[in-house]
Amino acid sequence: MKTLAELGDLRGKRVLVRSDLNVPLDGQTITDDGRIRASLPTIQQLSEAGARVVVCAHLGRPKGAPDPQYSLAPVAARLGELLGAEVAFASDTVGESARLTVEGLQDGGVALLENLRFNPGETSKDEGERGAFADELAGLADAYVSDGFGVVHRAQASVYDIATRLPAAMGGLVQAEVDVLQRLTSDPERPYAVVLGGAKVSDKLGVIDNLLGTADRLLIGGGMVFTFLKAQGHEVGKSLLEEDQLDTVTEYLERAQRDGVEIVLPTDVVAATAFSADADHEVVAADAIPADRMGLDIGPESSRLFADKLADCRTVFWNGPMGAFEMAPYAAGTEAVGRALVEATKGGALTVVGGGDSAAAVRQLGFADSDFGHISTGGGASLEYLEGKELPGLSVFDEQEG
Ligand code: ADP
Ligand code: MG
Repeated sequence: MKTLAELGDLRGKRVLVRSDLNVPLDGQTITDDGRIRASLPTIQQLSEAGARVVVCAHLGRPKGAPDPQYSLAPVAARLGELLGAEVAFASDTVGESARLTVEGLQDGGVALLENLRFNPGETSKDEGERGAFADELAGLADAYVSDGFGVVHRAQASVYDIATRLPAAMGGLVQAEVDVLQRLTSDPERPYAVVLGGAKVSDKLGVIDNLLGTADRLLIGGGMVFTFLKAQGHEVGKSLLEEDQLDTVTEYLERAQRDGVEIVLPTDVVAATAFSADADHEVVAADAIPADRMGLDIGPESSRLFADKLADCRTVFWNGPMGAFEMAPYAAGTEAVGRALVEATKGGALTVVGGGDSAAAVRQLGFADSDFGHISTGGGASLEYLEGKELPGLSVFDEQEG
């Protein structure tokens, strides 16, 4: 794994940095600049080293052609404000504007290229087309730094191909994520518990499959828990249920029992008459969900049980809210698990929150990022790492060794 330091003296060198600047926009207004803020340290570090910093990133899903609603122009403005320095914005990716913008950079100056996905080569499945775009990007710089953890699971021109064409290193943001994920997968301090929730079990099959081999305890809540309860023979009423996953889940339960992994399921749930904050709701036993109700959160007894099961843990990974937390009546379970992680963190455990909605949930519920050991910025990428998959944007650095 190559770090920035290994790129040597960068003064006067043009350094292309792939950042994750995919922020939510309401028209031209950035509604959450968290990803821009997270990208600052590496950009500042390069600028202070005297490099001519050329930042590149994507925004949304334009269809391989310029589309004004996905322009990075508002991001360039915000980046400039946060850096306290002007950010030169190129109105294309590798065209005339990009060339002139990069040529105009002073040592320590920062530029941002327009949305990479305005060029079809960025995400192309065709290696030749992707490679051609990577060649053009490489022509703009003397070195490359990978700092967008949220995209390292993608074999894209600015993530993968470019790293084979220039002296390349990982930025601090990617490094920090990889360090934490490594601690979760290789020899974690025990007991090691994984809390899984969220909407669908089918989204998380790979993670469950892999974690059954490493975790000591698996706590399950959220929408996916009803497929587990059903697999145990309980009726789940109108709750979210994935019939086609019942066999898989049954196999997980059997494997857990055989391998001594403790599976913790809720003993009570908040059951509502409809998927709505105003719906009539009550706490019922998890094995007695009325036929006309749906479970939208774990119940108070389960919250205590889950907190108890986390109290002695030295390592905790949490992905997926325990209930439909966006609606206040169904947020208590998620909040309770959040509190339990905060306590575990205070006690010296490594706690990691991964997943887009999970990160949003802990922030919405008033927790601070510093309450946890780590909040992962890359939902899909961190889950794929925990599935044991090879991430092209990381493995490309191993291929470069030697
Ligand atoms: P993440 O993005 O953290 O991986 P997911 O996308 O898997 O999480 O799941 C988040 C969604 O799951 C939330 O929008 C939440 O409302 C929903 N959810 C959680 N529990 C339930 C439930 N019991 N029934 C329906 N939806 C649920
Ligand atoms: Mg999600």
